[in-house]
Amino acid sequence: MMLDYHSFLLALGVSAACLMVTLFGTWISRRDSFLFTLVIALLLTVSGIFAYSSYTIHSGSLLASLAYTFLMAGFSMIYVGAVQFRTGIRRWRRALGLTVIWAAVGLPLILGGLDGLGFIVMNAATAALLLETARQYWLARREAIGPLIGIAILYAATAISFLLCAAVLAANGQWVLGHAPENWAEDLNIGVCIAGMTGIGSLSLALHQWRMAAFHRRESFTDSLTGLLNRRALFEQHGKRLLKASTAVIVFDIDRFKLINDEFGHATGDTVLKVFAAELASGAGKSHTVARLGGEEFAMILDNVLPGRAECIANDIAGRFAAREVVVGGTVLRTTVSAGIAMGTEEGQPFEAVVVLADKALYEAKRAGRNRVEVARHLRQVDAGDTRSSA
Ligand code: GH3
Ligand code: MG
Ligand code: MG
Repeated sequence: MMLDYHSFLLALGVSAACLMVTLFGTWISRRDSFLFTLVIALLLTVSGIFAYSSYTIHSGSLLASLAYTFLMAGFSMIYVGAVQFRTGIRRWRRALGLTVIWAAVGLPLILGGLDGLGFIVMNAATAALLLETARQYWLARREAIGPLIGIAILYAATAISFLLCAAVLAANGQWVLGHAPENWAEDLNIGVCIAGMTGIGSLSLALHQWRMAAFHRRESFTDSLTGLLNRRALFEQHGKRLLKASTAVIVFDIDRFKLINDEFGHATGDTVLKVFAAELASGAGKSHTVARLGGEEFAMILDNVLPGRAECIANDIAGRFAAREVVVGGTVLRTTVSAGIAMGTEEGQPFEAVVVLADKALYEAKRAGRNRVEVARHLRQVDAGDTRSSA
């Protein structure tokens, strides 16, 4: 008569074990992930399911205790996995603490003969943990709204099915059972668990891949030495724009940088680049974009500025950089930077054209002796196909 329930239980255990292997395999490829916490959670839960499955056949308070402990540990880890997903912090100790607390409450009941009450506690505690798990994913929903709301709903539905199991036992006053509980709520629960786990499993995998993709995307847009945007990111963000007269492009190039490399070594050169990147980033407003174009060339895009303002910001950054001292093995190193500025026009200029103009202004700054800021003033002549001529 319980054969159906028992086979469902085995099916649940086997598919949970398969899911565990899949998550483990996925986790291997990139290790700092909430997936590993879920793998451990599944390992504990699967052990609990098989202990419980064996208990449905053989009864006995020892098997019941074993199932109880493993299941509480498994569900605590599932909750902790959700916390880790949302916050990035791995709180395995909290899972251990929760398991100990619930074991301290439930095991005396089961071993003392009040196994029915013990199962009520187990179902209610599981429901609480799963509801809290659902809440964690719900709070994180912004990251990937569809999958995360889906996961939250599945955990909440599973929680409700456990709550029903507790409610039916309590309503029937079944404090003492001597065997596994059998009622409609248990049958419903096993169905919900199988469906919920399958859905949650695939959505968790999807979330992991989602995160990895976002990570690689971020990485491909970041300059690894300075942490600034790289050239690709800059052109991805601004490349297709037509720049109006209120937008300025500043191009910076560190002066005689080759000499620093030659005299002090490449590592010192890298330090100087990082120092400049830091000055550039701190000199930029929130709405400004800063990027490393490559080598010792950097760019800043400023929206909603007057020409004088861009010049002011460029001079400010150049001044602070010139004042910075880089100490290398006892010698103090100082460097300067030159900058070229170009603005968009009323009718709009392609981004790349403005960058070229800024580059030309930079070249003028270099020619005029370096450590200075030049503003491009010959846009109309360039528009007419003319090359620049000095006024
Ligand atoms: P100028 O004042 O005319 O700009 O002279 P410069 O020496 O700065 O100009 P140049 O463009 O000839 O030199 C740039 C040097 O930057 C050449 C290259 O070896 C070095 N460089 C490019 N990328 C890096 C990097 O990532 N790290 C270090 N340390 N050096 C780099
Ligand atoms: Mg240079
Ligand atoms: Mg250069």
